Amino acid sequence: MVEPKWRYILEWMRMPFEGHLHGVRRTIYSGRTRFQQVDIVETYSFGKCLFLDGILQSSEYDERVYHECLVHPAMMTHPGPRRVLIIGGGEGATAREVLRYPTVERVVMVDIDGELVELCRRYMPEWSEGAFEDPRLELVIEDGRKYVESTGELFDVVILDLTDPVPGTPSVFLYTKEFYELVRRRLSPGGVMVTQATSLRYSLDSFARIRNAVAAAFGLARPYMAPMVSFMSWWGFVMGSLGRDPLSVPPEEIGSRLASLRGRLAFYDEEVHRYLFRLPSFVREQADRVREVPTDANPTYFPAYS
Ligand code: SAM
Repeated sequence: MVEPKWRYILEWMRMPFEGHLHGVRRTIYSGRTRFQQVDIVETYSFGKCLFLDGILQSSEYDERVYHECLVHPAMMTHPGPRRVLIIGGGEGATAREVLRYPTVERVVMVDIDGELVELCRRYMPEWSEGAFEDPRLELVIEDGRKYVESTGELFDVVILDLTDPVPGTPSVFLYTKEFYELVRRRLSPGGVMVTQATSLRYSLDSFARIRNAVAAAFGLARPYMAPMVSFMSWWGFVMGSLGRDPLSVPPEEIGSRLASLRGRLAFYDEEVHRYLFRLPSFVREQADRVREVPTDANPTYFPAYS
């Protein structure tokens, strides 16, 4: 094999037998916080990228696909969200999308890693686009589970933008039935929760288990997916709702609410909303064979990698 002449990051694709070599044009930051290894680099293929513990979290190439698909289906499913809780979301792009809504009065963003948030503010300001300076945003540096256990506040929408549940990392107990039940208690009537739910390629099993846990806590759980080229996978999300079904939101309503948002979206619109929830038959068949519900005693993990 010919060794490449350029510098690179080798990302193990959440599997020990598949790696993705990202040619690095420039290293912007590399170091460790108390919680994770952080690499902010400019790659040849995907532009500026954030890697945590060697796993790509978002790239200039398609972070808008990920963040728009995480945020807008849930925001549109609630008829008029005013108070929103984000757990995780260190880059500030999830907050950026939420703050586009003129109805939103208060956003609480809880991330465990204050050093990471500062690095993202400093080295990736294109992601947050001023969200951290918006007076509607309160940033709390704390474990998301502890926050949900201790706050008395109610929210219309809760968005879980967490790292994957890799064994030994702090997000594992934020993908369990008990955690989703805690979140449900923090929702106002008609409230909506959405979580990223890992890959439909490397971890269809985890995706299905997360869907089962949300369904156990909420009754109504809708899994959906978005194409994430930089993650080399269709990416999974699951929405739980105490009110409307995301499939029943009229496209005309989404269209007119989109027109009232601040700024322009790159990917999501009323057409895409319907399409995101259409899972192909092999995904439905494989996912429907999975019966396990992740609990605190028996959580779901992302496949081991080395
Ligand atoms: N887009 C990403 C992906 O696909 O994996 C997730 C991005 S975001 C950078 C993940 C964030 O979750 C990080 O900022 C990390 O610090 C945060 N996080 C992990 N565990 C957490 C916890 N227990 N409480 C709050 N934030 C947590």
